[in-house]
Parts: sequence; C-alpha cells; structure tokens
Amino acid sequence: MPSQADYPKIYSCEFFPPKTDEAGERLRAVRQTLAELGPRFFSVTYGAGGSTQARTLGTVLEIQRDSGIDAAPHLSCVGSTREHIRETLDTYRKHAIRHLVALRGDLPSGMHDIGEFRYANELVAFIREETGDHFFIEVAAYPEIHPQARSASDDLLHFKRKVEAGADSAITQYFYNADAYFRFVDECADMGLDIPVVPGIMPITNHAQLARFSDACGAEIPRWIRKRLEAYGDDRESIRAFGLDVVTSLCERLLAGGAPGLHFYTMNQSEPTLSLWQRLGLPTPGA
Ligand code: FAD
Repeated sequence: MPSQADYPKIYSCEFFPPKTDEAGERLRAVRQTLAELGPRFFSVTYGAGGSTQARTLGTVLEIQRDSGIDAAPHLSCVGSTREHIRETLDTYRKHAIRHLVALRGDLPSGMHDIGEFRYANELVAFIREETGDHFFIEVAAYPEIHPQARSASDDLLHFKRKVEAGADSAITQYFYNADAYFRFVDECADMGLDIPVVPGIMPITNHAQLARFSDACGAEIPRWIRKRLEAYGDDRESIRAFGLDVVTSLCERLLAGGAPGLHFYTMNQSEPTLSLWQRLGLPTPGA
C-alpha cells in the first residue's frame, strides 16, 4: 500500500464564489496571480442548501475558460434531493467538469429539512452510481475531529465509509497542530485506506476572523498562537509576519513528514498564499 509520501505532490487553491460584480472583478485578479504559480487545481465552495449554486458554477466556468487550470466545484448534499443532485451532476458533465469536492455541508440556520442524503458517504456513493468514474472525487477529512462526531474513532470510521464509497482523495479541515495530521494519516494507513490526504492550509492574516471560523469548524488555534495574536491587537502587519512564519513552519513540517501536497484556503486573496508559496519554494511553471 502506498504511503502518503509516495503520492506526487498536489498543490491547490480554494475560493468562494463572489457575491457582487466588484468582488468578482477582485477574484479574477487574484486567480490570475495564483494561476501563475501553476496549482494542480482551483476549487470553488458551494453554500449548503444550494445558496451559491449558480455562482459556484459561474466561477468554475470562468476558471476553465480563462486560466486552463482544472476547476473543481464543491457539492454539498444536505437539504438536497437525489433529483437535484442528479441534475447538478448532469450540468457539470455537460460543461466537461471532471473533478468534485463532495461534502455533506451544514444546514443553514432556519432550514430544517435534511433532505435525502444524511452524510457525505451517501453522496459519494450516489455520484458513483450515477456517473461511474467520470468524476475525480475529493472528500473532507478532520485530523482534529469533526465537531459533531461522537468520538475520534467514529469519525475515522465515517471517513473510511467515504473512501469505500469511492472517494479518490481527501482534503483536510485546516489545523495548526501537525501531530494531529500525522496521527490521522497513520490511523488511515492502519485501516488500509490508501488515498492521498492533503492538508488544508489556512493562512493567518486576521485574528478575529480566524477565531470565528475556528469556533465554527472545530479547528483549534493553539494557545501560544492565540495569545500572540491577541497581543498584536490591530497591528495587521505583525499578525501577517507572525502568521507567515507559523504557517510556513507548519507546511515545512507537513511536507517533510510526507504530506502529499497542500490545499490553500485563499479566502479570495492572493498575497497570503503567494507569500507562503514563495517562502516554501514550491514549484512554479518555468522556474
Ligand atoms: P460527513 O463526512 O458526512 O461527516 C459529518 C459528520 O457526521 C461527522 O461528524 C461524521 O463523523 C458524522 N458521520 C458521517 N457519517 C456518519 C454516519 N453514517 N453515521 C453517523 N455519523 C456519521 N461546507 C459547505 O457548505 N460548502 C463547501 O463548499 C465546503 N467545503 C469544504 C471543504 C473542505 C476541504 C472541508 C474540510 C470542509 C468543507 N465544508 C464545506 C464544511 C463541511 O461541509 C462541514 O464540515 C460539514 O459539517 C461536514 O461535511 P462532511 O462532508 O465532512 O460530512
């Protein structure tokens, strides 16, 4: 069975669909800058409950058209029906999309109908039933354990179900504790799971925003990082410099330990990912 270190390295970037024309213009510039780095693919998030569906597709089509870089829409199933997912898959196939990030998602507040899929493994199985091997399917992984999981071992078993249902690769929730990642991939290997598990990397640029996201998704900000960020207050430049040091070291450790690449949560900004890419000396086309 291959180990994580045996896979070719994959570097990718994630965007969310812009809400306004102005934000769309800004994202276009961000994409152009990051496209020059030659990432393997760009992925575009999808609001659970279908709230961003058209904008997700629009952004993916723009990426395909303008950059020639593989574009992978995220697709969440919570609150949806088989018929709706079938139609979405048909639309994606019509547009020659071959790469998906398949997720359960979280029901938006105010929505109560969970729909016809309960968990992401059911979505992965459905995509395989409907479309065979057409799509390369990514799923989510949680080295620090999904917040709704009853236990770490349950969460791992649920991850296994997604792999057994047909996932080709995984991207993790972001984390700042490399040991959690290494433990997770060791446990996957012990269970015979042999897909790449690519660490999701969240640059540190804004303390309040990071704290909010981390509370929501269960990613831990270690005390030593949190305390320093608190002390910097509104000093954005110090936060940026410290964040770049911390996340560069994390990425170096992950890659040295065999991680099969890095997936950057860009937050629709180019500078943080660009700085990390350069500090890490990651490959760029023609370099
Ligand atoms: P699942 O794998 O279904 O797991 C959800 C929870 O259910 C876990 O606690 C798991 O242990 C448990 N579970 C799974 N199967 C079972 C079972 N059979 N029985 C009992 N319990 C079970 N959200 C969006 O809305 N849009 C996005 O575009 C998006 N992109 C993401 C990209 C990445 C890389 C990551 C890591 C997350 C993303 N999310 C996105 C967030 C994600 O939707 C949430 O974390 C969501 O809560 C879980 O989705 P999942 O696909 O991991 O769910």
